[in-house]
Amino acid sequence: MEHAEFNNHLLEFLNASTTPWHAVASIKRRLDEAGFKALDEKEDWNLDAGQGYYAIRNGSSIVAFRTGRRDVAEAGIRMVGAHTDSPCLKVKPNPELRRKGFFQLGVEVYGGVLLNPWFDRDLSLAGRVTYVDDSGRVKDTLVDFRKAVAYIPSLAIHLDREANSNRTVNPQTDLPPVLMQVPEDDKTRFADLLTEQITEEQPGIHVRKILGYELGFYDAQPASIVGLRGDFIASARLDNLLSCYIGLQALIESSGDEPALLVCNDHEEVGSMSAEGAQGPFLSAVLDRWCGKGRARALARSMMISADNAHGIHPNYMDRHDENHGPLLNQGPVIKVNHNQRYATNSRSAALYRHISDELDLPYQTFVVRSDMGCGSTIGPLTAGNLGVTTLDIGVPQFGMHSIREMAGTRDGVTLFRVLREFMQRGELL
Ligand SMILES: [Zn+2]
Repeated sequence: MEHAEFNNHLLEFLNASTTPWHAVASIKRRLDEAGFKALDEKEDWNLDAGQGYYAIRNGSSIVAFRTGRRDVAEAGIRMVGAHTDSPCLKVKPNPELRRKGFFQLGVEVYGGVLLNPWFDRDLSLAGRVTYVDDSGRVKDTLVDFRKAVAYIPSLAIHLDREANSNRTVNPQTDLPPVLMQVPEDDKTRFADLLTEQITEEQPGIHVRKILGYELGFYDAQPASIVGLRGDFIASARLDNLLSCYIGLQALIESSGDEPALLVCNDHEEVGSMSAEGAQGPFLSAVLDRWCGKGRARALARSMMISADNAHGIHPNYMDRHDENHGPLLNQGPVIKVNHNQRYATNSRSAALYRHISDELDLPYQTFVVRSDMGCGSTIGPLTAGNLGVTTLDIGVPQFGMHSIREMAGTRDGVTLFRVLREFMQRGELL
């Protein structure tokens, strides 16, 4: 696949995947088109050789796999992991605020949001809503307003002369987005606005009462290719939907001869400890049911590649990287090393990645954090620790991680895709 075609599909995926639930729905749609079969965790599974399957938990995490044509205990599993969630502002349970005739919503900060870029953006709202329908049954649905329904205006510099040197953001008082102006005696309930939106999106649904929701604001500006020569992608949620998309395409386009798996977990940005997070039992439960008695042998022959974006070296802030380990945008995916196990990479897993890349004549880079700075982490060490599989941490270099809009190179995604596709169809691993 050419990188232009790859990136066009990527932009569509990013625009459709506005929340973890929408990301999983996008992934499911592509798996369905590729002939993968849905599995229900509540039912018995009868898996065939040479077939693709997927299971979804909470609507926001997904494990997809191809059984391959060899016994899984003999072949091992080629695993790729990523996460579906991104830092954002989530709507509080009782959100309505009315001040000076403005209708606003109270928000909770989800994950390590870079807050300043959320001001002066066209914001939309999406997520999952649980409701009771006409027949008294409790159901879930996804909702996505798609258009700019809210805004967090900056305070003018005239009212805060120190804005450029000293402004801080108080997440409780500074962030509630403005949705509209209302009369003084306004009684608008957020649940009614939601019901209206659901009915408009899906006329077949009859909402008697909204019982709960998990909704996040997001940047309404679509993903785009930017730069004078189109060198960059700018989008919300590149961390880590870029890796979800790359892993998905690699799984779908690999030969299917070898057992291969993609796991995309929710809740990475808040520590991964949940029923569907990478510290929870979801992946392990799927492996139990797939591998049965052969699980221990299969895992001993398996490898996990945890794909999550890396920090590219920023030309205006070059001192934030070690002088020999500043990954450049468009110079290849970044092998992430941290001997203190913030990343799970070891010399064997890194070697396999470098070996495959060399065979395919594709570039790669290596990152280790400055020795005087703390290091981020990924689902890599968690999965390695839970399953006991050899693991590699890798990612496409980007700028502005956890901003409302992030930036990456246009050529690194397709490079990582090519290597992961080869990894997923490779006979011998280590
Ligand atoms: Zn991430």
